[in-house]
Amino acid sequence: MLSKKEIAKKRIEKLFELAEEELRKGNLERTKRYIYLARKIGMKCQYTLPRELKRKFCKKCNMLLIPGISCEVRLNKKTKTINIKCFNCNYIKRYPYGKQDRGEFNKTRRKIEK
Ligand SMILES: [Zn+2]
Repeated sequence: MLSKKEIAKKRIEKLFELAEEELRKGNLERTKRYIYLARKIGMKCQYTLPRELKRKFCKKCNMLLIPGISCEVRLNKKTKTINIKCFNCNYIKRYPYGKQDRGEFNKTRRKIEK
């Protein structure tokens, strides 16, 4: 038997696949709808989206982000962040790159703040 969370995970992965198909067809409204649904399922089942998926959509407008199609990816060497600009709403998403993962990044940031 699959647990609630496992079902949620499967449905969310499927929705991301469908969203990508729609985006490639140029159907932006449907793409956003699928991402919205995926996020909603996640929230309802208290399933946290894995990092790979979290980075794949714009949290502001629910657009699926595919470099060259719906977003632009730039590296900022100074801040060591990846900047992803959503073409749909121009929101810029940033996250660190390199050896440090998110946890490490937060730890060092906390140290700096102290
Ligand atoms: Zn956006």
